[in-house]
Amino acid sequence: MIYYRIALIGLGLIAGSMGLRIRQDGLANEVVGTARSAATCDIALQRGLCDRITGTAAEAVQDADLVILCVPVGAMATVAEEIGPHLKPGATVTDVGSVKRAVIDAVAPHLPSGVHFIPSHPLAGTEHSGPEAGFPELFEKRWFLLTPVSTDQAAIDRLTTLWQALGSKVEAMDPDHHDLVLAVTSHAPHLIAYTMVGVADDLQRVTDSEVIQYSAAGFRDFTRIAASDPVMWRDVFLNNKKATLEILGRFTEELFALQRAIRTEDGDMLHDYFTRTRAIRRGIVEAGQDTDAPDFGRGAKR
Ligand code: NAP
Repeated sequence: MIYYRIALIGLGLIAGSMGLRIRQDGLANEVVGTARSAATCDIALQRGLCDRITGTAAEAVQDADLVILCVPVGAMATVAEEIGPHLKPGATVTDVGSVKRAVIDAVAPHLPSGVHFIPSHPLAGTEHSGPEAGFPELFEKRWFLLTPVSTDQAAIDRLTTLWQALGSKVEAMDPDHHDLVLAVTSHAPHLIAYTMVGVADDLQRVTDSEVIQYSAAGFRDFTRIAASDPVMWRDVFLNNKKATLEILGRFTEELFALQRAIRTEDGDMLHDYFTRTRAIRRGIVEAGQDTDAPDFGRGAKR
């Protein structure tokens, strides 16, 4: 047991996966959960994502040693404001938001002194969401990035131990650096996938059935990414505006360069470019980061 009582605020894919793993491995004496809708709370209880459900976030955090905010980034401030006065002195608060600077700015002002705020971001996920989507192996061999606001080393070490117990590797990072890195590796690629699928949808000549019937590997991968939760991704872009726009600016420049190479039939340029990108893919495969989630006999990639 690493914490006595853990409170999960929000009970979707990420919280559900955590709750299942924490309970399965006895990492806490009790997991208390809460979500916005009664339907989500019912499913969470049925699936055993937590031991107990409360009607409000304020009730859920009572006497919790660790509070994990698992709501969309845009909802973090409201939740923090609600729980702030009810937190136990000495408790740790973390979140799993995909953006870190905006979450720190939204949450930190609502937390009383004596509470340790240690924001986190698991680099693990699928295109599925909601209380049915979670599974206990989600974090296996994935990174957890920490951007601690608290300087309390014992609190940081204890949270690190929990993330490691979920099967993850943990690394600390500056929040602005985190947001730039994730803009490159996750946020801009999602926007590009949304755009590509939108383009296919707009093309009058390509009917829906043709898109589905002749879907080739490249487009299929885009559609999987573009199926990700609209609320979560709306909030990511609105809260990581600067870094995402910076990366999209660079992307546009590169796209123009490739467009020019195609028009001028500069085969050498295209070949060199694709050789460079192929090496990056090989590096990712060698680092064991080539799937969204390990396939634990579930068949299709999530
Ligand atoms: P999810 O499956 O959609 O679950 C979100 C949960 O938050 C639901 O239980 C929902 O309750 C609750 N919620 C939504 N809006 C709320 C609000 N305004 N106030 C209170 N509760 C609210 O989302 P998720 O994929 O687990 O993502 C949760 C967080 O993890 C996000 O911040 C996201 O950026 C981050 N994250 C996601 C991934 C990923 O791949 N999915 C990866 C890493 C980090 P109801 O169901 O009752 O509406």
